[in-house]
Amino acid sequence: MALIVQKYGGTSVGSPDRIKNLARRVARFKALGHQIVVVVSAMSGETNRLINLAKEIMPEPDPRELDVMVATGEQVTIGLTSMALMELGLKAKSYTGSQVRIVTDNAHTKARILSIDEDRIRTDLNAGYVVVVAGFQGVDENGNITTLGRGGSDTTGVALAAALKADECQIYTDVDGVYTTDPRVVPEARRLKSITFEEMLELASQGSKVLQIRSVEFAGKYKVKLRVLSSFEEDGEGTLITFEDPENKDSNMEQPIISGIAFNRDEAKIMVLGVPDKPGIAYQILGPVADAKIDVDMIIQNMGADGTTDFTFTVHKNDMTKALGILNQVQAHIGAREIRGDDKIAKVSIVGVGMRSHVGIASQMFRTLAEEGINIQMISTSEIKIAVVIDEKYMELAVRVLHKAFELEEA
Ligand code: ASP
Ligand code: MG
Repeated sequence: MALIVQKYGGTSVGSPDRIKNLARRVARFKALGHQIVVVVSAMSGETNRLINLAKEIMPEPDPRELDVMVATGEQVTIGLTSMALMELGLKAKSYTGSQVRIVTDNAHTKARILSIDEDRIRTDLNAGYVVVVAGFQGVDENGNITTLGRGGSDTTGVALAAALKADECQIYTDVDGVYTTDPRVVPEARRLKSITFEEMLELASQGSKVLQIRSVEFAGKYKVKLRVLSSFEEDGEGTLITFEDPENKDSNMEQPIISGIAFNRDEAKIMVLGVPDKPGIAYQILGPVADAKIDVDMIIQNMGADGTTDFTFTVHKNDMTKALGILNQVQAHIGAREIRGDDKIAKVSIVGVGMRSHVGIASQMFRTLAEEGINIQMISTSEIKIAVVIDEKYMELAVRVLHKAFELEEA
């Protein structure tokens, strides 16, 4: 008997028929003697619908109130899922995040989980229930409803698996696993049987939408066995997220050099031009941005010959206006000549643990882009990733030529 957390995304609960289908799958696992916790997203399109509704009332919705209303999407699907399970003769019980007590910080719309009280779930499981938990939502210490950021149900699933010390966390989605890149952009993209946790973390942080990044972080921290599967297939094996074996470097040599290519149009570039090149400048620029809880991704600072420096960084597109507003307020204080924003950018990243043992990957990437006349605006690297910022209109072209150059196609 195993304890399995199964998370179902929006398409898997997108209609009554699909919910019934989900319930049949759960019933099959239950019949094998497993204990099952189901985590569900809102019906596909529902979260967007709710956000748009909010914006019709308040163009920049108040974050606390937005959380109160968008959390209803998942409250609908937990009830429906429980009912579908009951219709199959199973004992089932649903809980909202706050009923479980998934306690988060108070960063509305992008809250982080602080703790999970798993007692109630465990009691129900031991009494033979399938427990159905609303993804994406929690509650802060003062009882305010919070949400975990778009795609946050994955994080709920993995966090619950960690808290319950589950044997496996299965993420059911509309694709049958993790691909070398998005097959909608590159039809030759290939499903990966397994991918290391570190690669998955990079891919998720670079824009692959298969798993929300926080879910991967959680899985890494608590060594949760994570598998991505299709909810439309009876018995696909999906993609298993594995942990690199530090003792066995040989096994890493068999890894392909590049495992995947991620891309996104989610970021905007902010340039703080002509600031005096002196200690404390980076802090004076980024401190207020961080205080506003705006996440910064890439950061580049150039040393100018004239004693001034240009400071460029990227934030989520949604945060650009806010970040520019904050910087305009401190512009005089930091002595910047000009502050500029550009949201017509895209980021393309190649990821692979095999990069560790191979040289020349960066030059191969840059040559491939140069041959297509694609200009690189920013570069950042880690041990297993090279990311570039380019004009957004070249994004798909860049992904296609890189996928080919690194021979990621189906064999
Ligand atoms: N319903 C939420 C969203 O669309 C959470 C999720 O689906 O994971 O972002
Ligand atoms: Mg999702």
